[in-house]
Amino acid sequence: MTKNETIISNLQDTLERIKKVCATIGRNPEEIKLLLATKTVPAEYIQTAIQSGQLLIAENKVQELKEKYDHLKNIYHINHFIGHLQTNKIKDILRYDVSCIQSLDRLDLAKKLQQRLLFENKTMEVLIQVNTSNEESKFGVRPAMVTELVQEVAHLDRLKIKGLMTIGLFSAEPEKVRGCFRLLKTIQQEINALQIPNVNLKELSMGMSNDLEIAIEEGATIVRVGTAIFGKRIYPDSYYWNEHGR
Ligand SMILES: *Cc1c(COP(=O)(O)O)cnc(C)c1O
Repeated sequence: MTKNETIISNLQDTLERIKKVCATIGRNPEEIKLLLATKTVPAEYIQTAIQSGQLLIAENKVQELKEKYDHLKNIYHINHFIGHLQTNKIKDILRYDVSCIQSLDRLDLAKKLQQRLLFENKTMEVLIQVNTSNEESKFGVRPAMVTELVQEVAHLDRLKIKGLMTIGLFSAEPEKVRGCFRLLKTIQQEINALQIPNVNLKELSMGMSNDLEIAIEEGATIVRVGTAIFGKRIYPDSYYWNEHGR
């Protein structure tokens, strides 16, 4: 098989996995969006995936978004951003047509986004990234602080809060991650119960190649899949998750 054929076949397998777990637990597979995590993947392979019908993709680093932008700009697709975002990269995020930042994790970033969006007369969808695994190394707001951040972001009218995102525990035992996903769901329910004006957390972005079934069982509406579709990456994930992005 060529690399392109492998990607198409992996995509079909992934969609099958989603359907299968949905059938087991009685969820409608159409409630779940498959997001392709495209870090380190060359644009031509991303193009293959988009053209097979998978329109939702996301990068972790603004630099990669920029490098692939020209190659992909004429093929209709939807860009989310799932990496650590520095405030000095906000202009780039807007320039390269990102429609949702899934990794909003602090108020100063939200305020600067609001300023820039006002200036450009745009709006931006956001998910609040929650550190459900309590690991120092991962980004995301601490569970106890999520409500406060949501309440503050709700006042920033250019930001549309759509839900929550988490990476969860990175464990060889997928079952260990279930508690993280459950916690995200609980936080969603608690915040929705507060009926904060302008806030209805619909999306739960959780689950990756190794644990998407568990995430769907626990209520995921977006699963973010890289390796299972594009193959193994040469960089360790710590390169993307543990240090400040550039
Ligand atoms: C890379 C990445 C994923 C996908 O991980 P895989 O294990 O390759 O499926 C999901 N979410 C984020 C934030 C990522 O950086």
